[in-house]
Amino acid sequence: MKIIVQKFGGTSVSTPERRKSVVDKVKKAISEGYSPVVVVSAMGRKGEAYATDTLLSLLSSDFKDENKQAADLLMCCGEIISSVVMSNVFYENNIAAVPLTGGQAGILTDDNFSDAKSLNVSTKILMDILSQGKVPVVTGFQGVTQDGFLTTLGRGGSDTSAALIGAALKAEAIEIYTDVDGIMTADPRIVEEAALIDIISYNEVFQLAEQGAKVIHPKAVEAAMRGNIPLIIKNTMSDCKGTLINNVGDIQNTRIITGITHLSGRTQVSIKSEDNQGNNHYKELLDILANNNISLDLINIFPKEKIFTIDDSMKNRLEKIFKDINIKYTIIENCSNLAIVGSRMTGIPGVMAKIIKALSDSNIEVLQTADSHMTIWCLIHTDNVQKAINTLHRTFELS
Ligand code: ADP
Ligand code: ASP
Ligand code: MG
Repeated sequence: MKIIVQKFGGTSVSTPERRKSVVDKVKKAISEGYSPVVVVSAMGRKGEAYATDTLLSLLSSDFKDENKQAADLLMCCGEIISSVVMSNVFYENNIAAVPLTGGQAGILTDDNFSDAKSLNVSTKILMDILSQGKVPVVTGFQGVTQDGFLTTLGRGGSDTSAALIGAALKAEAIEIYTDVDGIMTADPRIVEEAALIDIISYNEVFQLAEQGAKVIHPKAVEAAMRGNIPLIIKNTMSDCKGTLINNVGDIQNTRIITGITHLSGRTQVSIKSEDNQGNNHYKELLDILANNNISLDLINIFPKEKIFTIDDSMKNRLEKIFKDINIKYTIIENCSNLAIVGSRMTGIPGVMAKIIKALSDSNIEVLQTADSHMTIWCLIHTDNVQKAINTLHRTFELS
């Protein structure tokens, strides 16, 4: 049996016209001899009746934070509605389909509600349905604990469900259908002339995904890579061939930079040693923050200063801790972390210099930088994100 997993995101299942396109994609796979497993997200985006954000807005934020198990149960409803509605559309189009929750589809997770980790995927029920010639329509984004509690896999986690199922079934491919033609050199909502990337390696996509390119979840890339299953990103509403993600990527490509992305909602924190002389907590600051579950990024430690970034949502907690232990500090709010990604930048001199020059020529202040073998990060004010990404996109001729 030639199995293919086809995942359809929230916008792809949001209207009758789009749901008809889903049917066309599934029919095409069947006509090519594949046995498809369909994975669906909740229908629509924020504001639309059954979208995940709309469901979450029914809860107060304190309740949500303190009752993650209940919030997961509510969020799971979005995908459950979607899988049954989609099964109905398949029925209307003469395709026998079986809606399944993530748990029924075999995804067993730990009990880390809101960001659960898959422990095992049992394929028995899926294989039974496929061998009857029917199409399983699995709710994305969710699993079940050993004790039967419904969990979710982290926001955007329907991609992860598709990749976990694809790897467990040793599928020929995992297709992720969305509202853009594939992975582009930058978010097309930010850079008008962003170009489609035809083929790219798991590693580069993982970097882009982890640094904010929403088009695919990093955990999905990881799961597909572990199973060595080709991942293909496609547009539900077009016939564009999309982006193929595999182990090698485009070995012909000589481009140094593959893509640019960003994470907004960052706050930069600076603590000077001279402002905190005689305060013994200064030495243990990183431990204190870690013990309070505040995760840090872009950490630079100098003899005279410690600088790092935190998520904006952690700012109040950090300020309270610093007040309690009498630490003096300064912060810059509303920052974004640009990530310039390219697996060929290793050993090429001058890439950072070119980035800094381009940003400075455009009067964009760089607050902090960091680099690894495949990525250069620049912290900037969020107001400058659009201009900065467009500037760098032009500088590295990514169009
Ligand atoms: P879905 O609901 O189908 O999962 P998402 O909203 O999660 O869709 O992801 C698709 C969106 O990702 C696109 O609409 C696009 O704006 C955004 N995006 C961000 N970075 C990129 C990129 N480099 N290439 C393509 N799309 C991107
Ligand atoms: N519906 C979930 C979310 O909005 C999962 C997904 O769409 O991938 O996060
Ligand atoms: Mg998504």
